Amino acid sequence: MNSRRDFLQKIAASAIALPLLPLAGWANSSNYEGPVLRVAIMGLGGYGTRVAEAMQACKKAKLVGVISGTPAKITDWQGRFSIPEKNCYNYENFDRIKDNKDIDVVYITTPNGLHHDQVIRVAAAGKHVICEKPMALNAKEGQEMIDACKKANVTLLVGYRMHFEPKTLEIIRMRKNDDFGKILFFQGLCGFKIGDPTQWRLNKQLAGGGSLMDIGIYAINGARYMVGEEPTWVTAQETKTDPVKFKDGVDETIQFQFGFPSGAVASCLSTYSMNNLDRFFLNGEKGFAELQPSTGYGPIKGRTSKGELTQPHVTHQTVQMEEMAGIILEGKQPIVPVNGEEALKDLKIIDAIYLAAKTGQKVDLKLT
Ligand code: NDP
Repeated sequence: MNSRRDFLQKIAASAIALPLLPLAGWANSSNYEGPVLRVAIMGLGGYGTRVAEAMQACKKAKLVGVISGTPAKITDWQGRFSIPEKNCYNYENFDRIKDNKDIDVVYITTPNGLHHDQVIRVAAAGKHVICEKPMALNAKEGQEMIDACKKANVTLLVGYRMHFEPKTLEIIRMRKNDDFGKILFFQGLCGFKIGDPTQWRLNKQLAGGGSLMDIGIYAINGARYMVGEEPTWVTAQETKTDPVKFKDGVDETIQFQFGFPSGAVASCLSTYSMNNLDRFFLNGEKGFAELQPSTGYGPIKGRTSKGELTQPHVTHQTVQMEEMAGIILEGKQPIVPVNGEEALKDLKIIDAIYLAAKTGQKVDLKLT
């Protein structure tokens, strides 16, 4: 399973068909004839731009619309991506997207604190939603978003790009194949030194917290898919060296630990004040796996007790959008879920980590 085509075929093999498939555009190019997911991006910032550029290499997904608060960006994107005027919206009028038959899904890449209301509005307009991580600021918001999408009968997916990354999936395959034996320990180190103190990532209202919401979530999510279980308890400790930059409710560094039903444990670090922290390590009775870098844009590098991981580098956002098109249009099932329920588990864990850090107490979790 070394090539990207094999990887995609592997995912296709686990597909189950949905009884009702949504309407979509139809491609008719020389090498692909099939349904195409027509995507509008909301929030034309750093990550939205990355997704838009990556989608240009997709066969099954196409950028067709934008939602932005910045008119100059809309004009720029119209030119760069050939987006017609009728598919351009702002934050005041995007509810009208419900009358637009040429858009299937809205991909929300705005600051975290806006996701809840925007997902609910997109769902009410009858469009599928892809929302960036973290899906919301807390589990309560996350549940409301899931309920709104269910009520509107639209699909809610979350931009967990690592769930489609070939080396990550190979470790998951090997763990399921018992190559590492009984899993005993996971370590996740996630962090970077954050710059500009005025950015939204350091604003409690827009970010919902600090490093944990932004980068620590990779260690939370990674612990779950690497160990292959849901944690049943959490402990956490917070340290702050710069209370001016990292105000109340904006965490600079948090260390947290999980316990799993099998007895495996995890130890993780999330920080906004150290560079070169992007590492996963999984240890079992018979072997180990490590990824470093583990969640950056790549190339991801890794090895296991059986040798180097040689799966090719892919552009994460291209593969993610191809696969998400398959999920929405064809009812495909990803190996690691990317739906609202998956994201809600991370939000419940985030709530528990903040509570554990605040109280100093072990917090029990019930995620299954
Ligand atoms: P940026 O600040 O680069 O872009 C956010 C965009 O949202 C802005 O450019 C703006 O676009 C729009 N926006 C609307 N309201 C506001 C507001 N009040 N303040 C600031 N921006 C606003 O952020 P990122 O692109 O880095 O992050 C966006 C989301 O994507 C976050 O949830 C983040 O966690 C996630 N992300 C995910 C990554 C991944 O690998 N999966 C990587 C990076 C980010 P406009 O002018 O068009 O309205």
